[in-house]
Amino acid sequence: MALALRSPRFTTAPTAARFQQAANNTPTIKKGEKDKQAVRILQQALIDLHFPLPISTKKYDSPDGDFGNETHDAVRAFQRKYFPGETPDGKVGKNTLSKLDDLLPLPGAPLPPLPTSDNEDMDELAKQAVLRVLTGQFMTRIDFVYCGQEVNWGWFWTVKRNVENDIIGVRYDPIVADFGLAVYVPEDTAASAPNHIVMPHTKLITWKQRSVLVHESVHASQDLRGIPLTPALSEGAAHVAQNLYHRLATGNRVTDTNALADAVHREADRFALRILSGESSFTAAETTDLDRAIAAVPMYQRTSVGYDGVPDAIL
Ligand SMILES: [Zn+2]
Repeated sequence: MALALRSPRFTTAPTAARFQQAANNTPTIKKGEKDKQAVRILQQALIDLHFPLPISTKKYDSPDGDFGNETHDAVRAFQRKYFPGETPDGKVGKNTLSKLDDLLPLPGAPLPPLPTSDNEDMDELAKQAVLRVLTGQFMTRIDFVYCGQEVNWGWFWTVKRNVENDIIGVRYDPIVADFGLAVYVPEDTAASAPNHIVMPHTKLITWKQRSVLVHESVHASQDLRGIPLTPALSEGAAHVAQNLYHRLATGNRVTDTNALADAVHREADRFALRILSGESSFTAAETTDLDRAIAAVPMYQRTSVGYDGVPDAIL
């Protein structure tokens, strides 16, 4: 049976049609919803009913329209309060919307328009691509200890949660193409884009692009842990993870047209092959050849990698 919404919050163009679909469960509004304006109105409704959304309002001082974990959790909290006998599912469909419609009969305060630019949209596309990689195939099989440093699904998951919540940002920037396929920029070395993965592509179409993202996610996880690392330790672990991922996906190591970078991949791949044959832990004494290859790349000639922890990170 169709539910007729009454509150002007939910019956005003251009989002009225989307809310009416949700009220009929065709489909509900849930995590990943594409209609950002409808999500913003829902987020403001939750806030007005005292389910605060500090993360979703941090960037613009207004709901951001991303139906992520925080909004999902707030909907569940709302459902627990108003439907105590039922299992909360975090989806806004007939029952949840009907209750919101009853509780909020008056129009809400107008929402300020969000700043828009092509870059904003590109950043969002890049972020979604990063999240697809971090939750995609093979990630659970990247599991090893490199000189005492754990690289595993738990750490990739932690990076994913911080990306979802915009604590680690993702920025599209074509300039990165000049020296790599992506970089992770920690707080302490950042003139701009602190705690961001910066990449020159928005969709991560190839396995090589995805493997670079795995590499940068290792750096992001190192930063989350806040432990300063030498370039050899930082880059070594990242390259091993990258090559293991590429091996799992394609059967081959990562290659690079730059001979010095290619040599690093060749050495890192030796560890990837050992992991695939059942080894999972490597000591510093075993990493001499990879260390030497890394030391030969000018880009890695930094005295230290001062990962100092991402402020307000979710661990
Ligand atoms: Zn690196």
